[in-house]
Amino acid sequence: MATLPATSHSARTKYEPVIGLEVHVQLLTASKIFCSCSTRFGALPNTNVCPVCLGMPGSLPVLNKKAVEFATLAAMALNCRINETSIFARKNYFYPDLPKGYQISQYDKPLGEHGFLDIKIGGNTKKIGITRLHLEEDAGKSLHEGFLDSDEKTAIDLNRSGTPLAEIVSEPDLASPEEAYEYLTLLKEIILYTGVSDCNMEEGSLRCDANVSVRPRGQRGLGTKTEIKNVNSFRFIRDALEYEIDRQIDLIESGGKITQETRLYNADEGKTYGMRSKEQAHDYRYFPEPDLLPLIVDAKWRAEIRSQLPELPEARRKRLASDYGITEYDAQVLTASRSLADQFESAAKAAKNPKRVANLVQGELMGRLKAKSLEIEQSPISMAGVAASADLVESGAISGKMLKDLYDLSFERGKDFPLVYEEEGRPQQSTDTSALEKIADELLAANPKQVEQYRTGKKTVIGFFVGQLMKLPRARLTLS
Ligand SMILES: [Zn+2]
Repeated sequence: MATLPATSHSARTKYEPVIGLEVHVQLLTASKIFCSCSTRFGALPNTNVCPVCLGMPGSLPVLNKKAVEFATLAAMALNCRINETSIFARKNYFYPDLPKGYQISQYDKPLGEHGFLDIKIGGNTKKIGITRLHLEEDAGKSLHEGFLDSDEKTAIDLNRSGTPLAEIVSEPDLASPEEAYEYLTLLKEIILYTGVSDCNMEEGSLRCDANVSVRPRGQRGLGTKTEIKNVNSFRFIRDALEYEIDRQIDLIESGGKITQETRLYNADEGKTYGMRSKEQAHDYRYFPEPDLLPLIVDAKWRAEIRSQLPELPEARRKRLASDYGITEYDAQVLTASRSLADQFESAAKAAKNPKRVANLVQGELMGRLKAKSLEIEQSPISMAGVAASADLVESGAISGKMLKDLYDLSFERGKDFPLVYEEEGRPQQSTDTSALEKIADELLAANPKQVEQYRTGKKTVIGFFVGQLMKLPRARLTLS
């Protein structure tokens, strides 16, 4: 956690933070946005390059249709209006890993606009506006370590140059680091559901910059903002924002002024540091990209793309809860990823009794996972395994107690249910009643007085026999 500046708590409550987020997600196309080079992560440096993504003079960009479809799908999932015509623009700046001297992006006519996300905060729902979603190309990477001479040289890897990105810009509607965290979590979940990005933060396929300012509570105008760049986890973004908000308040309270600048977050120290003063938008000298036609996504194409939009997490949670009678919390867990929700639903549908699958997940699986601090993706028992076990109980082949024992063995051995069931020799619940009849006969013979009482009408004496029966060592089946 950050070491906070010496801002008093009372000073902090006088101000309110205003936060807007810019999220870049790398689209999962096989090739780059303007050339046919591979986008595969982890290839040897500068092996996935060609004249286009190296920025050679005279080379011409050709737009990747799949990148447009993926970005449009993401924009739709975020409730954006899709502009029929959008324009690519050159964003001019110099950077060593940007060989052309400009980035092809979109400026005043982006692909998607006016979207929103409903985040849950403190039990309430809050609508966060999404200003725009636009398509752009990624730059290359400057490497400062991991090669010979890295102590005195910087190397450039252009494999990433030209990788398609969707940039998602929120309205400054976020009023706390916690809201920013919730927004990012939901945004990532939705993008993952659409399947257009793997949102892998370690590999940089999801990156977030945060704009933050503070203003006296109730004031309408915005304060001067700073931008926190390249933070690589949602938790760090929350921590960085907390630190930065306090830093700004502290500075204003002590009579200073906020400088509009880009700041970097040092997670080890929990502090942000000024990096460079922020370029104004006009510094980029945006102008329409002369080598690309306007991008037209007409009604027919939009309809085709919309038909690929999956059921999104929130809707799915509601449906699972009502279809299978599971709790909201479990619906949340089961919809954590689209593949998990798919697995659960296919298991539930394949099983004889879907409700029993849901009950087993809730009653038997979740508790064991929690006890072992495992995520559901790490569960030794797959959803298919849960379905198989549900069917065995449903048909009466095994008892609830046997299922519990078999689940315990699955967790002990780290093996799926069907495998453990086989290893245990497909145990069956006994349906042989002759053993039980024999015990009953013995009990009757040993208690003639009670038998006589029963015969003369004292029916309650049956309770005595049940009690005697229960005291006997249980003739229950063991699994071994
Ligand atoms: Zn290329």
